[in-house]
Amino acid sequence: MTASSFVAGNWTADSDAVFRSWDPVENSAIAEYREASVATVGAALQKAERASHAFSAHTPEERAAFLRQIAVEILHLGDELIQTTRQETGLPEARLINERGRTCGQLRAFADLIEDGSWVQACIDSAKHDRLPLPKPDVRSMLVPLGPVAVFAASNFPFAFGCLGGDTASAFAAGNPVVAKAHPGHPATSILLTKAISRAISQCGLPDGSFALLQGQNHELGSALVAHPFTAAVGFTGSLGGGRALMDRAAGRPAPIPVFAEMGSINPVFIMPDALDRRGEAIANDLGASIALGAGQFCTNPGLIVTLRDVFIEPLAKALALQPTGYMLNPDIAARLHQALESRSAMSQLEVVAGGIGSSMSLQPRNTLFKVDAEDFIAMPQLQEEVFGPASLLVECGSVDQMLDVAAHLHGNLTATIHTDNHTSIEVIDLLQCLSNIAGRILLNGYPTGVEVCPAMQHGGPYPASSTAATTSVGTAAITRFCKRIAFQDCPDSLLPPELQDANPCRIWRQVDGEPTRTAITRSE
Ligand code: NAP
Repeated sequence: MTASSFVAGNWTADSDAVFRSWDPVENSAIAEYREASVATVGAALQKAERASHAFSAHTPEERAAFLRQIAVEILHLGDELIQTTRQETGLPEARLINERGRTCGQLRAFADLIEDGSWVQACIDSAKHDRLPLPKPDVRSMLVPLGPVAVFAASNFPFAFGCLGGDTASAFAAGNPVVAKAHPGHPATSILLTKAISRAISQCGLPDGSFALLQGQNHELGSALVAHPFTAAVGFTGSLGGGRALMDRAAGRPAPIPVFAEMGSINPVFIMPDALDRRGEAIANDLGASIALGAGQFCTNPGLIVTLRDVFIEPLAKALALQPTGYMLNPDIAARLHQALESRSAMSQLEVVAGGIGSSMSLQPRNTLFKVDAEDFIAMPQLQEEVFGPASLLVECGSVDQMLDVAAHLHGNLTATIHTDNHTSIEVIDLLQCLSNIAGRILLNGYPTGVEVCPAMQHGGPYPASSTAATTSVGTAAITRFCKRIAFQDCPDSLLPPELQDANPCRIWRQVDGEPTRTAITRSE
């Protein structure tokens, strides 16, 4: 039995409980692993708390070198990593190679960001000793690390949102140790990635409490991780049920902590009449491909299509039927999809227009499209729950006004899309305004699957898409989630961090008395 958890530089296996990994393509078990115990959670956090100061005390250049070294070590894992993950997830090799590139790319992007240094948002308001009726103090503030971050790895992105994915990279970049709860769907992948990070920790001379990996398949482990008093924040990608349970757990602690959870989204796509007329068939083909991509296991999968009655169903159903079928990531996710398709098929208001429920034993579902009338959709909020898989729901509207009515009833989403060339139409402007209230990213004439990793990206939206719409889990802006702002009032240079000292030794951009500048400042006597 493999010891699969990693604490303070050692592999451990201290519980009698076991879980097993599964090959979705062969539909058979691969290996068994021993679970971490709640005591291991405590040990990992003790070490992380002790490492916190030393980790954040490393210079930005040293931490940047660490992030780059992790990327190097991931690549050193070579084909073994790709083949192990392919077997554990059923994801195709080309997709995994691409995702590995993205994962290394985001580590390097965070390295560049912290080397530049301006991300700390240094802000200085100079003293005005002669201000009346009271003098103004010298106030300087910046972002600093929070402390140990608990990261829950996602099932659907074993690299980019796995135990060394975006949440871990952003937490490290901000200066925090990480205790990661691996996703139980890919334990051998998590072991390999942990070997990579362990090498990077040794080579860069970081404390061994900088990273720990916990493996298991029971809610007690995750709950204990969030409840531990040394956990300072949580990053999570997964189901609404799981994310919400962890949010509630964190809020119920004697000292509540923030949970940055990315949960469920149906990513509505509105197709306006002008777009239907001019390029309905092309949209149907592209949308069909977007729904079926990766067996629909993307948080940005277009799970809701809103358009005018009768015109679009046939081409979309045809396009979806032409798409290849893929494998679900694991039997649990396949079972949840089967249950959701069964429940929808039993609803008298819904009609299956493509695909449908397959065998409950199969991990290779059919690409499925339901349709529903707009009035029924508005009356049935349960239809806004995410169906994770290659399935979508088309809402048939009688008019553009009814499309706007549907938009007004939507819950929070990661994305919302409009297809139109009528950019000055009042209805389009109204629709965009309405969708801006419920989505984190608005796309025009595009498809939501595929998220660019760049500084401007917003991957987060109003609840239930994520726990807070103010932050993103993709792109370098994600770093601010794992920080706190601290202000220093009337402190001499000798007691200030370099980022806030008069001479600006880090040469970073700072906001000084309301103006962005990189120049040094002189204090007034
Ligand atoms: P999940 O069931 O939410 O599990 C994610 C992680 O959270 C796992 O490590 C799980 O560990 C832990 N967890 C879940 N519920 C918990 C609880 N109540 N208390 C403590 N820990 C808990 O997600 P999943 O396994 O990835 O996939 C299942 C469903 O999640 C899918 O069918 C889909 O609906 C959704 N999903 C959404 C996205 C998205 O991006 N929107 C991505 C992936 C999945 P344990 O099982 O060991 O407790």
